[in-house]
Order: sequence, then C-alpha cells, then structure tokens
Amino acid sequence: MIPFIDLKSQQDQIRSKIDKRIQTVLDHGQYILGPEVKELEKKLGLFSNSKYVLCCSSGTDALLLALLGLGLKPGEGVIVPAFTFASSAEVMPLLGAIPIFIDVDSHTFNLDPTKLDDALKTANKLGINVKGIMPVGLFGQPADMDPINNFAKNHDLWVLDDAAQSFGSTYNNKPVGSLCEVSATSFFPAKPLGCYGDGGALFTNNEKIYEIANSSHVHGMGKVRYEYDRIGMNARISTIQAAILLEKLNIFPLELKKRQNVADNYNKHLNQLNLGIKTPVLIKESTSSWAQYTIILPDDINRDTLQENLKSKNIPTAVYYPIPLNKHKPYEKYPISHEGLSNTVYLSKNVLSLPMHPYLSESDIILIVKSIAEAIKN
Ligand SMILES: *Cc1c(COP(=O)(O)O)cnc(C)c1O
Repeated sequence: MIPFIDLKSQQDQIRSKIDKRIQTVLDHGQYILGPEVKELEKKLGLFSNSKYVLCCSSGTDALLLALLGLGLKPGEGVIVPAFTFASSAEVMPLLGAIPIFIDVDSHTFNLDPTKLDDALKTANKLGINVKGIMPVGLFGQPADMDPINNFAKNHDLWVLDDAAQSFGSTYNNKPVGSLCEVSATSFFPAKPLGCYGDGGALFTNNEKIYEIANSSHVHGMGKVRYEYDRIGMNARISTIQAAILLEKLNIFPLELKKRQNVADNYNKHLNQLNLGIKTPVLIKESTSSWAQYTIILPDDINRDTLQENLKSKNIPTAVYYPIPLNKHKPYEKYPISHEGLSNTVYLSKNVLSLPMHPYLSESDIILIVKSIAEAIKN
C-alpha cells in the first residue's frame, strides 16, 4: 500500500526529538500559551520574513482572526475563488460578510487576476461594498500576487492570502507569509507543515492587525488580564502542538526540497506517457510547497473508473475539489462573478491528486505512473 501522505516516515526521522519536546512541556506544565508557542512564533517569523506571527487553533481560525484584524463588517464583500476548500469562504458569512466567487486560472488552479475587475463590478452592481481579496495558494503554489496586490491597491482593497496549503513556498523569492497585508496557514496534520492535531498561524507586518487578532484569539482580552476590549473567541494553539511544530520546522526546508524532487519525478514520468494528462504548471515567479500533486485528466478519461482501478492496486488518489464552492447549499445564495466560473467547473470534473509526500521514492512513482497508463489503456 502506497500511503497518500506518509506521516510515519517523517515521524521516524524525528521521533526521539518530538518525545523530548513533549516531555519538556509535561515537565513545565504550561499547556496553554507556554514558552514553546512564543519560540515557534519567533522562528516562523524568521522563516516567513514576517514581523508578527500569531499561532492559533486552526487554519480556519487564522483566517477568521485575520478578517477580525482587518475589520471586516457585516454586509461587506470579499472576493474569493470558487475552486478551493470550504474554509476559504465560510469565514465571511460567519462575520455576516459576503463571499463573491471568482474563477481560477485553468493551469495554476489559482485566482485569475485578469478576472478581478469583473468580480468587483459584479459586486458593485449588487450594491456590495467590497473590502478585500482572498487568493488561495492551492495545492502549494502561491497565487500570482503582483497583479492581485496592484489591483487591490488601485481599488483600495486589502489582500488576505489563504496559505493553508502554500506555506513554505515563495513568490519572486519572497516567502509566503510576507506577500500581502496578512496571510494565514494551517498546521492540520496533512498540510506541508503539520502538527499532531489542529493548529494554524497568521502572519503580518501590520501591528494593528496583529494586536486585534491577538486580543481576539483570547476572548478579546485587553492589556490587563480579564479586561475585555472587544468580542473575541478562544482560538489558542496548544503548547504541545507548538513543541511538535518546532521539531517539524527544523526539517521543513529539507522536506520542501524532497517534495520538489518528487514533483520533478512525477512530471518526468507522466509526461512520457503521451495520454493527454496535464501535469502541474508553476508560474515563473513561484515555487511550490507541493501540498498536493494534482493532474488534469483529458475529458476522454473516466476519473471514477481510473480511481477505482488504482485503488484496486493499493494506490490511493483524491479529488480536490469535486464540487465548486458556490454549488454547495450554504453558498448558493452568494454572488458569482458575471463572467462565470468555467475553469472552476472544468477543473472540478477533471482534476486528480496523486500520493504526495517528501518520502515518496522514484520507484513508487514509476509504479504509480505505470498503473495509471495500464488503467487508461485497458
Ligand atoms: C486546510 C485548509 C484550510 C483550513 O485549515 P484548518 O486548519 O483545517 O482549519 C483553509 N484553506 C485551505 C485552502 C485549506 O486547504
């Protein structure tokens, strides 16, 4: 059985160090906001070239805290791709705000900046006051941030990067976390940098955003304990998770290199097949953290049959995401860009994610690619 994501091999590398880190927490007993949390925030700040890092309870909460920090109000709008995980859009309605769905680029899977103007006009026609844009670094590659940031500047919008999958990648040699006003990532176990539970972090150079998010993640607490400045939530990270992440962060740069190597091997072997399968495309500005290795199947290949066939050979695959967000019941009422979402619709029918993790060997990749070829030709 080839694992879709191999957390066991990773743990084997650092198990004794993680055990020691957990032991330290058990000894000092500060399970909430212990010293490991501050240490992790400092190291993540250096890694992502961000002045302020706030670790919190999940990637979704990091997005929510970022929106609180940005001051998003009920009835205001945020432009967000329809081809993404539910978290990206669910945080707006939670604050009474409105997601406006925009299409993605058919090669990069990411928000298409040339469609921003249409999305904004669509919202304005409906009388929605758009405040910001949320690009998503889907499958590990950051969105094309320069044109997105330029558009935002010209229209007085902020940009919040949903980097739950793209943390560890770069854009024009700048690390994700530093590409716009505020960024959020997730430490869900299966993400490129994951812990052993739920966790997330927010990154910004803006002191005010940080202060509000920091206060909000502990019930809106002010400078004095048990004095409250605002309505907040409980969104703290556990100290044990921070301790685990400190050891994972140490090997993260090496793992990112290994992930790139895995992607290179996939590209090499898949492109030899000549079956019309499209391998992932990186724009010249960016690197990817390869949260997923996602191919696009031609229309004449039946995805369900292929998945079944691979499953029978113990090769797991996944479809991220089979249904555009705007097609799910809770999201049906929100506006979609006037120009439509044709790439989103196409990709949701044709994408397939293959096993991806730093420890995937070339021989396993050859086996996977051979199995794909056999399944299709039969
Ligand atoms: C995983 C993910 C999130 C949410 O992260 P959680 O830690 O699970 O809350 C948000 N956006 C995207 C694109 C994700 O993949």
